[in-house]
This record gives sequence, C-alpha cells and structure tokens, in this order.
Amino acid sequence: MSKNIYVFCEQRDSAVQPVALELLGVARELAAKTGEKVCGVLLGHNVTEQAKELIAYGADEVYLVDDVRLAHYVTEPYAQAVYQITKQQEPNVFLFGATSIGRDLAPRLSARLRTGLTADCTKLENDEEGNLFMTRPAFGGNLMATIICPNSRPQMSTVRPGVMQKLQADYARAGEIFPVAIEWNESKFAVQVIEEVKEAQNVDKIEDAKILVSCGRGVKNTAPAFELASNLGGTVSSSRALVDAGVMEQSRQVGQTGKTVRPQAYLAFGISGAIQHLAGMEESEFIVAVNTDKGAPIFKVANLGIVADAAATMKELNKILAK
Ligand SMILES: Cc1cc2nc3c(=O)[nH]c(=O)nc-3n(C[C@H](O)[C@H](O)[C@H](O)COP(=O)(O)OP(=O)(O)OC[C@H]3O[C@@H](n4cnc5c(N)ncnc54)[C@H](O)[C@@H]3O)c2cc1C
Repeated sequence: MSKNIYVFCEQRDSAVQPVALELLGVARELAAKTGEKVCGVLLGHNVTEQAKELIAYGADEVYLVDDVRLAHYVTEPYAQAVYQITKQQEPNVFLFGATSIGRDLAPRLSARLRTGLTADCTKLENDEEGNLFMTRPAFGGNLMATIICPNSRPQMSTVRPGVMQKLQADYARAGEIFPVAIEWNESKFAVQVIEEVKEAQNVDKIEDAKILVSCGRGVKNTAPAFELASNLGGTVSSSRALVDAGVMEQSRQVGQTGKTVRPQAYLAFGISGAIQHLAGMEESEFIVAVNTDKGAPIFKVANLGIVADAAATMKELNKILAK
C-alpha cells in the first residue's frame, strides 16, 4: 500500500538547498489532511548531520544514503538510490525541487516506476484519501491546469524554488533517521566526475534579495536601476524582454521561465505585467509599478502604481536617496 509524502532533499556541497525545506513545508500541509508521515530522502557524502535539519523543518523520517558514490550529483547513482528507496517504501507522493538536479532526477525515477510526473507545480493540494491535485501553468501560462495521477503511485511533482514556504525550524522536533544500504549496479555508471569547476558567481541572487528593482522593456538604460538598487540595498532583476534582448543575464529573469521571487519590495519599472512575469513575482510583499501606460496589467497586482516615465522616476529617487 502506497503511503506517506516523500521529499527529495537536495544538498549541494553538503548544504541542504532551500527548496528542500520549502517542500517539507508543503508536505506537512498535505500530511495534515491525510495523517500521513513526511519523509525526507537525503543522498550525498558526509551529509548525516544534515538529516537533523530536515527533521527540524518538518520531516518525521529521513531516509539517508551517505556514500562516496553520491559525493557529486551524477544521474545514474542518484537514480539507483531513489529508485531502491521508492521500491522499498512505496511512497504515496514524491516531491522534487525543480532545480537542474530535480529536473534531471525526477523524470528518471518516474520513467523507471512508470508513474506520472507533473513539472513546475505552483500549487499542491490533496484530499483525505491522499489524492494529489497538482496545479501548474499551461498553454504558455494562459491558464492554470490541475493535474491528477489516479492510476499509479507515487504521485510525483516538481516545484520551483521560492514557490512554497518553509516552516520555522524547530530543533526540538522528534524524528527518525534510517540509513539505507543501496545495492549498486556500477556497470551502469557510464559517467564519472573527474573535476568540478565552479563558475564564478558575478550576479547577485535575486531570489534572496529583500528589495528588487526590476526592469522591463520600458527601461532603455539600466545603469540608473543598478544605482537605485545599490541605494536601496537591493538587487536588479528583469523581465524576459530584456533577457531576450541580451541586456540582462538570464539569472536575473523573474517569471515562469525565470525565477520565482518573494521580496519585501518589488519595484517594477517599464514592465507590462504579462501573466508569465506575474507568475514569478505576484507573491512579493509590496509591489510598486512605474509605467507610462495607465492600463498596464502590472497595476492590477501593484500596491502602489505610478503612471510616469521609468527613467525620470529612477533619476528622481536616486537624487533623493543620494542626499
Ligand atoms: C512560455 C512563455 C514563458 C515566458 N516566461 C517569461 C518569464 O519568465 N518572465 C517574463 O518576464 N516574461 C516571460 N514571457 C514573456 C511575457 O509574455 C512578456 O512578453 C514579457 O514579460 C514582457 O516583458 P516587458 O513587460 O518588459 O515588456 P512589454 O510587454 O513590452 O512591456 C513594456 C512596458 O513598458 C512600458 N513603458 C514603455 N516605455 C516606458 C517608459 N519610458 N517608462 C515607463 N514605462 C514604459 C509600456 O507601457 C509597457 O507596459 C514568457 C512568454 C512565454 C510565451
């Protein structure tokens, strides 16, 4: 009998990724409806201590594989480990972060198990019987589709970082940690990591920023936006229009095919507010929109709307803040 809600708890360099904690948060909400357990799956090398963190953030049980073969993410060893855990434990639900690792691993597992996988969900709900309702944008983001997986288990889903909210950590929570021994089939290990070279991070992480100064096609010169972000202690983000135009790095893109952000303040300059953009920022705590078109859809989600020229407004703000 399939039961319990499993979360793949991604770690990199032994650091549990925020998306794993966010998924444990939503898993707890789902478990409250069915009375199921929340189970973390933690794979890696020298990650045993991190299992306690998962319990603090909502896991009742952690299935742990601490093995040198899992020191770097490589598809096949990771796929073998999650597959064997899934066959032994028979989860009802299995959630993954929609990161480069989760997007690689989750489809492998769903194919091996012959079950369904709904990618990039923005909402997860369930009923008392444990059926999962997975909602995600469809048809280019023009409608939201709720997808079910009634005939096979586990019900699998990926969720992008920043979409769900993690719980407050409680290091007094009780939970159990189960080390799992995997029967490796090394003859299938076609890829070996020889060396890991980390790309220099020269772009600020927009998903961590408290204040975002976001530029759209209505911003012709982005330099004042960087000045404004610096004056406010924030970071610059962008609509896809400026990324496609080669003006901004892809890592700054907010939206359906960019990042989901939830800053305390989101300042949108010259952004129309297309549904694909809103999908990535409408959960921001306070939204300011500056646009010359008073009918721009961005004003519908804005807490404060200013019908004005983006460049002139930024110039004025920089003048005031520089004083
Ligand atoms: C499958 C799919 C995925 C997508 N994913 C994303 C995504 O992740 N993120 C994303 O952003 N988009 C995404 N898009 C594109 C999206 O549909 C829009 O085309 C895009 O968001 C538009 O960017 P924009 O608002 O900067 O430009 P526009 O829509 O061209 O809007 C520019 C705005 O600037 C205003 N303006 C012009 N001049 C000034 C001025 N001087 N001062 C102030 N305002 C001015 C205009 O009134 C207008 O409202 C996606 C599209 C598809 C089909």
